[in-house]
Amino acid sequence: MARNYQSRKRILVTGGAGFLGSHLIDRLLERGDEVVCVDNLFTGAKRNIEHLHSNPRFEFMRHDVCFPLYVEVDEIYNLACPASPIHYQHDPVQTTKTSVIGAINMLGLAKRLKCKIFQASTSEVYGDPHVHPQTEDYWGNVNPIGIRSCYDEGKRCAETLFFDYHRQLGLEVKVARIFNTYGPRMHPADGRVVSNFIMQALRDEPITMYGDGSQTRSFCYRDDLVEGFLRLMDTAPDVAGPVNIGNPNEFTIRELAELVIGLTGSRSTLDYRPLPQDDPMQRQPNIAVARDKLGWEPKVQLREGLERTIEYFRDFVN
Ligand code: NAD
Ligand code: UDP
Repeated sequence: MARNYQSRKRILVTGGAGFLGSHLIDRLLERGDEVVCVDNLFTGAKRNIEHLHSNPRFEFMRHDVCFPLYVEVDEIYNLACPASPIHYQHDPVQTTKTSVIGAINMLGLAKRLKCKIFQASTSEVYGDPHVHPQTEDYWGNVNPIGIRSCYDEGKRCAETLFFDYHRQLGLEVKVARIFNTYGPRMHPADGRVVSNFIMQALRDEPITMYGDGSQTRSFCYRDDLVEGFLRLMDTAPDVAGPVNIGNPNEFTIRELAELVIGLTGSRSTLDYRPLPQDDPMQRQPNIAVARDKLGWEPKVQLREGLERTIEYFRDFVN
């Protein structure tokens, strides 16, 4: 139900100019809330939020979450962190700082405000998993010193901080473990597999297939994911998570390439490249907890989601 001036909340979204953050903000504004969007624009883009500037309930602050933030809000969604391997590996020290110091700063803010706080964690906390599909009670198989560690271990440490603030200080926390998500507003040069394959297919360029393409991922459409965020935030205070949010339909990366080539009618061929270090071989969420606690499951399947995403990316092809 739409909120009015009495029931509306003032909500902080860090990383709000990014792919997922900007969609979350659209949903919060649609239901009548006020939003403070904080972003340092490292991987985010002003164009993701430019349609919001005339909305009096929207406010943008250019700020790095590694520095303390003083705002007055009722709820916090902490999404600030580069998500694509090429971006988080560009300045790995900054990536760890963003996850860890950013979490400390946002948890400190939540503590002062006595407000609930959501953390965008990741399936990367499971590393290259030995348990398949991944359940929330699996502790993971993560290399602590590899090229993905800045992201994986940064997010794991952030989870530790969230649960220690919860246990030690009674803070209400909501931790979502997000599995690969795609959709319009992904950065076309983001480097993630869905954006790479679509841009390459639309340009009839070779599709960069890392390894033999037999590694798997489970792709969730962004609208489904954001619905899961909102439901998790609205759960009872004792539901802290972590909760897997993702689409359990698993595909090999080669199947994804073939689907993208088919849907775009592309003449692209597959260009096999070495598999990057520590690239997980399989990933699929077990979403029993999300079904049970949030009454949530994804609705948009890969073909339909890719069609919508391809339409978005056509504007970037010259
Ligand atoms: P994105 O790169 O589009 O968005 C991240 C946003 O955070 C960007 O706008 C970026 O500028 C901002 N940011 C980065 N460092 C910052 C800092 N120090 N201070 C302030 N802002 C900063 O990525 P996304 O896909 O929208 O991911 C959003 C969140 O979800 C991230 O925390 C990511 O780890 C998590 N996540 C995403 C996926 C996915 O598949 N999209 C999967 C797992 C987890
Ligand atoms: N990948 C690929 N070609 C690309 C980009 C990615 O084959 O151009 C592979 C990558 O090696 C991984 C999978 O696709 O196995 C998903 O990669 P992405 O960077 O999207 O996310 P990850 O799940 O690895 O964080």
